Amino acid sequence: MTDKITVAGVSVDTRHWIGGERVASAGTFTDVSPIDGSVIGEIARGTATEAAAAVAAAKAAFPAWAATSRAERARLLHAVADGVEKRIEELAIVETTDNGALLRSHRRGVMPRVAHNFRFFADWLLTLEHEDFDTRGHTNHVDWDPAGPSVLITPWNAPLMLSTWKIAPALAAGNTVVLKPAEWTPLTASLLADITAEAGLPAGVLNIVQGYGSEIGDALTSDPGVRRISFTGSVPTAKRISASAAANLTPLSLELGGKSPLLVFADADLDLAVDLAVEQYDNAGQVCLAATRILVEEPIAEEFTRRFTQKAAGIVQGDPRDEATDIGPNIHPRQLEKIDGFVQRAIAAGARAVIGGHRKDGQYYAPTLLTDVAQDSEIVQEEVFGPVLTLQTFTTEDEAVGLANDTRFGLAATVATGDKERAGRVTAQLVAGTVWVNCFFVRDLQAPFGGSRHSGVGREGGNWSFDFYCDLKNTVTAPKGWKDHG
Ligand code: NAD
Repeated sequence: MTDKITVAGVSVDTRHWIGGERVASAGTFTDVSPIDGSVIGEIARGTATEAAAAVAAAKAAFPAWAATSRAERARLLHAVADGVEKRIEELAIVETTDNGALLRSHRRGVMPRVAHNFRFFADWLLTLEHEDFDTRGHTNHVDWDPAGPSVLITPWNAPLMLSTWKIAPALAAGNTVVLKPAEWTPLTASLLADITAEAGLPAGVLNIVQGYGSEIGDALTSDPGVRRISFTGSVPTAKRISASAAANLTPLSLELGGKSPLLVFADADLDLAVDLAVEQYDNAGQVCLAATRILVEEPIAEEFTRRFTQKAAGIVQGDPRDEATDIGPNIHPRQLEKIDGFVQRAIAAGARAVIGGHRKDGQYYAPTLLTDVAQDSEIVQEEVFGPVLTLQTFTTEDEAVGLANDTRFGLAATVATGDKERAGRVTAQLVAGTVWVNCFFVRDLQAPFGGSRHSGVGREGGNWSFDFYCDLKNTVTAPKGWKDHG
C-alpha cells in the first residue's frame, strides 16, 4: 500500500488519522470512481485495533480540549474554515472523482458550505447561554458541558458536507471526535485531517478511521468511553448501531432515509411545481430529502405530467466534471442494481414508466417517472436512492395528506400551492422534520434538522446540536451561606 495517492492532481493520504499521526493498516480496500469505474487507489482498511486506537486517542485528548476556552475553540474552528476555503478547488475535484456528484455544485455550493459549517458552529458556541433564573431566591445557572468522545459515522452521498455538519458542532461543544467516513468515499475526510492539522487543532481532537462499517462499526459504537454517536445513513445500519450503543446507553442522533412527498395542488404555480419535481433528480436521486413521491391533484395531473416530461427531457446526464452536466453517475454498480431492481419489480407489478425505467451506459440510470403505482407497493413505500420518482393523483386535501403521511418515514415534505390557508392546514398535518412550501432544499444551520418515525431520532442544528453533543447541567445556588472573605 502506498501512503499517498494523487487524485486529479491532488495528493491524498490513504491512511487513518489517529492521535495526530498517520496510521496504516495491514489490509486495504479499493476505492473506485463512479465516473468511469477507474481505480482511484488502495485505502487503509481499518480493523477493531485501529478503531480502538482512535477511540483511545479521542479519550486522551478530551480533558484538555473540553477545558479549552470557548473563544479558543471557536478560533481554531475558524482556522479550519480558512483552510477549507483555501482548498475548495482541490476538495471539489477530489469529492467529484470519489462520489460522482457535480463538480460545479461542489465548487460553488457544497465546499463553501463545509467552511460555513465550521464558522456557523464556532460563532453559535459564543452565543450559547441560558439566562439565569430564580427559584424562591435560589439562582439556576445552565451549563453546556462537553459530553466526551463522539463517534460520527457518515454516508457517501454528500461525504464532506455531512461529516463536517457533525464534526463542527461536536468540536465546538468541546467533544473529541472519531469519524468513520463511508467506504465508497474515503478521500475528502483525509484532506480534512491535513487541514485541521495545519489549522493547529491539537492531536487526538479529530481522529479518522477508514474502512467498512461492518468490520469496525461495532468496535466504535460499543465502547463505553464513547459518549455520543451521531449517524447518518440507512435504517438497517441505524438499528445495528442502536443495538450496539444500547449496552452503554450511549446517546444517539440518527439521520436516516426518507420517502418524502411533493404535494401539488391545482391552485399551485404549475411551472414552479414542475421545476420542484424535476429538481428531485439532483445528485442522481441520491438525496435523503428528495421528494420522490409526487402527489398531484387530479384535474391538473395530465398537464403536470406533460410539462414535467418536457422539462425532464432537457436534463443533461454525463460526466459530473462538465459544466453542462445536470446529473452524474450513481455511486456504485451495486447501487445501480438495487435501483433497477426496484424499477423492474414495480413495472412487473403494473407500473408504467412515463420516462426512463432503464439503465444507461456506464454507471448511469435514466431519470424515471412511474405512474399506476399502488400506495402499498414497494416502489411507493421503500427508499430507492436513485433518480426514480412516482406519480399518484388525489382528489381532496384530506386524501393528499393521507397519502403523504402513509409511509414509515417522515424526513421532509414539499407543498406546492397558491393558497396560504391551505398551506397552513396541510403543513400542520404532515409528519416530517422539514416542510417546504413552494420551495425546496432551503436550509439554515440554525433550524432543527432531522426526521420523524423511521427517518431518524433527534434533531441537530443551532442549539439542538449543542443540546445533543453536551451534557446540560443546571446549578442551583442558595442565596445565603457564603463566608465573608473580605
Ligand atoms: P449505510 O447505512 O449503508 O452506511 C452509512 C455508514 O454507516 C457508512 O459509513 C458505513 O460504513 C457505516 N456502517 C455500515 N455498517 C455499520 C455498522 N454495523 N456499524 C457502524 N457503522 C456502519 O448508508 P449509505 O448507503 O451509505 O447511505 C445512504 C442512506 O443514508 C440512505 O438511506 C439515505 O437516505 C441516508 N441519508 C440520510 C441523510 C439524512 O440527513 N437524514 C443524509 C444522507 C443520507
